[in-house]
Amino acid sequence: RSGPPAPVERLSAADLFIAVKTTGRYHRTRLDLLLDTWISANMQQTFVFTDGEDEKLRERMGAQLINTNCSAAHNRQALSCKMAVEYDTYIQSGRKWFCHVDDDNYVNVGSLLKLLSQHRHARDVYLGRPSLERPIEAAGLLAAAHTQARFWFATGGAGFCLSRGLALKMQPWASGGAFAATADHIRLPDDCTVGYIAEALLGVSLTRSPLFHSHLENLGLVSDIHNQVTLSYGTVENSRNTVSLRGPFSAEEDPTRFRSVHCLLHPDAARCPGPPPL
Ligand code: UDP
Ligand code: MN
Repeated sequence: RSGPPAPVERLSAADLFIAVKTTGRYHRTRLDLLLDTWISANMQQTFVFTDGEDEKLRERMGAQLINTNCSAAHNRQALSCKMAVEYDTYIQSGRKWFCHVDDDNYVNVGSLLKLLSQHRHARDVYLGRPSLERPIEAAGLLAAAHTQARFWFATGGAGFCLSRGLALKMQPWASGGAFAATADHIRLPDDCTVGYIAEALLGVSLTRSPLFHSHLENLGLVSDIHNQVTLSYGTVENSRNTVSLRGPFSAEEDPTRFRSVHCLLHPDAARCPGPPPL
């Protein structure tokens, strides 16, 4: 019978550090939905990295909300500033796995634990979904530094994970101010910079997983929602790109489908109608 490979490590939710990247203007429109769904069941594993104070959010999350004091601009510097704070906070946490997601991702923590338990946290593991068909090429500067200029990276919009073993090895290029300097050096976004450090500088290849999903793909084609690790939603040419499933919430009540997904996975959760009668 085919199924997931046997676990090589016993993991519990307490071993996870899930970083969610957000920004002030998405607190109401995106983050509240995550707090009503997957984050509510996984508060101790989840850390939200934002760029401004928010009393309502602070009330719901306490110390799990981290104000990075990074700029709220959507430029390379501001985004790599946030990734650097995510990384530093993770290193301090001492946990076994670092996972990054965007604020338009749903995380199925049960599936995530199953996937990660197939790997050893002390080894070098970089897990995610590549966003492009081909490896990316970084600026010519790199040729002079005798580093490999072609590398794969996991798209941040689908989420990705790093083992503690790998994260610790990344320190010279990722901790403190080093991450922003590395991103500036290659002039690429934060998720590409992670791939550059792992693949090009440390020689650790991205382990591809089809269980991570961004809104760059056609989410209507995702089947077996129970076993996916991340989901997302978006709009393309004025039409919604979401996973497709029946209720309990209509598309009008639940345009992202995350509330319905959450009830499919956790029928007993608050805000769900409960399991079907026997
Ligand atoms: N984001 C941010 N600052 C900004 C704009 C976006 O931190 O000024 C975050 C946003 O909260 C999300 C991620 O960056 O977690 C990607 O943003 P979005 O989904 O809007 O854009 P995409 O790259 O997916 O098109
Ligand atoms: Mn997005």
